This record gives sequence, C-alpha cells and structure tokens, in this order.
Amino acid sequence: MNINLSTLTITRAHEHLTHGDFSVRELCRAYLDVITERNKTINAYLEVYDDVMQQADRAQAMIDNGTATLLTGIPCAIKDNILIKGKRASAASKILEGYKATYSATVIDKLTAHGVVFLGRTNMDEFAMGSSTESSAYGVTRNPHDETRVPGGSSGGSAAAVAMHGALIALGSDTGGSVRQPASFCGVVGLKTTYGSVSRYGVMAMGSSLDQIGPITRTVTDAEIVFNAIHGVDPMDSTTLPDAVREAQTHIPKVGTVKPIIGVPRSMLAVEGLDARVKKDFEAALEKLAAQGYEIQDIELPHVHYALPTYYILMPGEVSSNLARFDGVKFGFHTEGKNLLEDYNLTRGVGFGKEVRRRILLGTYVLSSGYYDAYYNNAQAARALIKHDFAEAFKKVDIIATPTTPSPAFALGEKTNDPIQMYLADMFTIPANIASIPALTIPSGTVSEGGVDLPLGLQLHARECCEDILFAVGKDFLGEANA
Ligand code: GLN
Repeated sequence: MNINLSTLTITRAHEHLTHGDFSVRELCRAYLDVITERNKTINAYLEVYDDVMQQADRAQAMIDNGTATLLTGIPCAIKDNILIKGKRASAASKILEGYKATYSATVIDKLTAHGVVFLGRTNMDEFAMGSSTESSAYGVTRNPHDETRVPGGSSGGSAAAVAMHGALIALGSDTGGSVRQPASFCGVVGLKTTYGSVSRYGVMAMGSSLDQIGPITRTVTDAEIVFNAIHGVDPMDSTTLPDAVREAQTHIPKVGTVKPIIGVPRSMLAVEGLDARVKKDFEAALEKLAAQGYEIQDIELPHVHYALPTYYILMPGEVSSNLARFDGVKFGFHTEGKNLLEDYNLTRGVGFGKEVRRRILLGTYVLSSGYYDAYYNNAQAARALIKHDFAEAFKKVDIIATPTTPSPAFALGEKTNDPIQMYLADMFTIPANIASIPALTIPSGTVSEGGVDLPLGLQLHARECCEDILFAVGKDFLGEANA
C-alpha cells in the first residue's frame, strides 16, 4: 500500500498497522525517506538513530501478538534535551559534545512501553533558550513552509520534523513557549501541559519551575493520545501532580453537555508589535467559535503585561543555577587550563554559546545577595499576581483565547542581533508557564507573504489539569471527530 503521510494520524496509522496494510518497517521507511530528502536543507534532525528498524521490529511484534496500543509503531522525533539511554543528547550545545545519556527520561520509558519508534533527535535553541532555533551550535533549522524563515523555537527541529512529514509525532519542551510558538510557525498542533502533569525526569533543566514536556502533532486528537500516554505522577520528579489533583477537576462541564465559555483578554491584543494580520485571523477564529455556539466574553488579566519581564528574571535565575553543573568535569566537552578555576572558565566560555552565557550572567546578577530582593523576590510576587489573575478569570470562563504568536514566522537572521525583539516573540505564550496552566496551539489560518502561505495559531488556555477542555474545544474548532 502506498502510504500517504499527509493524511496520516495516529489512529489511521494504527488501523493500517493492525489491518496489515503496511508494516511498522514500511511506515518508518516512509518517514526516513522524507528525512533523507528534506533534512539536508531543513536540518530538523541532528541525528537519525541507527536502530530504527530494530525498534520497528519490536513494535511489529507487539502488533502481531495483540499487545499493541494506539501508539505502537508510531514514528516519533525527540528534542535533543530529552535523554534516551545510550544515545547522544546535546541540547544543541557544544558543551555536551560527545555526551551519551546514562539513563532514559520517564517520558521515553512511557513511550517505549507503548512501542513508539524514536527516529532521531531534533535541533533546538541551545539549552532551549531562544525562539527561532538559531542559537543551536549545530546550524539553523529552516521552516518547511518557507526555507528563508525560522521554524520558531526552541523546539524548532521537532515542529519542523512533524511539518515536513519527517515524523508523525514529536516531543518538545516548553519553558516559555517552546512547544507552542514553533508549532504555530510550522502549522501544527502543540501542547504545553499543566506544570507537574508530565515528569521532567531526564529532561535537561532550563527553568525548573516553568519547564514542561509537550507533544507536537498534526491533530488535537493525536496530542491527546500522546498526552494520555506521558502524563502522571512519577516518584523520580517530586513536582509531578498526584492523580487525585487531576480527578478533582472533573466537575468542569464537558463539551457536548454545556459548551465551555471562552474569555478574551482584550488588553493583550492592544500591545505594540502585534501584526494586524494576526489580529484579523484571531478575530476570525473567535467568530468561528461563536458560530459554533460558544459564548465569548471579554475578560481582564490586570497583571499579565508583567509576565514577560517576570519570566526574564525568574528563568535566568533558574538557568544560572541549573547550568552550573556543566563545568567541564562531569559532562562532555572540556578545555584544559592551568588550574581548576581556569578549566571551568575556559570550558564554559568556549562550550556555551552567546545566548546561554547572557542568561547565566543575568541570572547570577538577579540572584546575587545585593539584588535578590529587588529582582528575584519582586518577580516571585509578580508571578503570584499573574496566577491570581488567571484564577479569577477562570471563575467566569473555562477557556482563555489569544493568538499564539504576535507575527507569522520571521526571516532567518531577522532578530538574531536584537535579543529583546527575540524575547517578544513569546509575549503570548509565557503567561501560561508563569501561571502553571495548560495551553494548546492549533492552526487557525495563514497569511500570504511572497507567494507563500505562512501558518498562524490560535492559543487556548484552561485551568490547571483541564487539558480535556482544551482537547474538546480544539477538536471542535478543527472539525476533528469528537469521539
Ligand atoms: N523562547 C523562550 C526563551 O527563549 C522560551 C524558551 C522555552 O520555552 N524553552 O526563553
């Protein structure tokens, strides 16, 4: 059977695999062929694994002996900051050159139990710091829709892999938008999960109070299938939420009985830098939701404009502490100096790229004894206010909708010399991380530029642990069967 990758979803692939229309090997081969053809220019993958066919055979055995789940044999791309035992993982940094993981992340173990096939590791901004995948030490990734543009970041390789049909699903990590922003730029679906719903064990830490792993997929149903497989409490990550917390949210009305009420924080749309075409697309998305019977209400999030500055204090603080472990002794790359201090300085000075060094410096500064109260403590207080704003808004509405990004994918090099402009690419995605709530981006439309249709995304937020409402509304919006 000829495999049509452009219409494939997890459920369809599963049906074909279990009916024997094609084998797991044939499915993986189809994706590997695309990678061979397109990765030379797109550079979504830093490495394609050499054991894909062995993994395929293990998955095939599960299908043949009747133990398959929906995810068995599904080809998946993994961001280069998620560990798979025995395989290289570099966070796209020179400082981890040659490093091989000594254990697997919990998400990897969970997907392995389902028989997911890992095709390879994907490019990213170094240590997940960036919005364009241009800060990788291993070259830029290009947007499959327009190769002169960025795929977004930091999970740009994972989003580009799914968009170019180089994987059916992918995992990314999201600290301030790194799953959602590239998913939006590449025209696919991306989910940032409730903080604590997915284990961070085996994911290289960036901002530990903000980081979450999330799926990048072609449909909302696929994101839901992956989410169901990876979430849950984990003894290896003390911040994972007990199941009871998630179950306590079941009083929320489900789509089909009462439609969730959608709130729109109008003040967020008045910000400078929001592309008029994005605003138009967003208004059209709201009209579509209204036509589908959703009640739309304007809401206030009085402190949300502090989210970006708050993030750029808390995140670098956590970065400076998390990245202290890369000292040239424990992992990968090492530069020899005259003494230990010089070893550290040389290794870190050469091994880390510019953006990573900038954030370590910023973070060390905001945590220093003289400035801790002025910066870090105030940012913590601002975070509490922003969380409170969302909690108040969710007393009136079930979903909060915004655009995912202020503009469509920008040109390669356009923002590399202006970090502030780069940071502003996440103005709509950062609030969800600050508030620890889940947020989903779904393709909402396109804008035409230079004869190319560039994708735009609609972002939906929900209360903590209410991913189910996001899936229901997302599927409704995209017209996916509400099974
Ligand atoms: N682009 C944001 C940053 O540079 C978010 C990164 C992320 O989510 N990992 O920090």
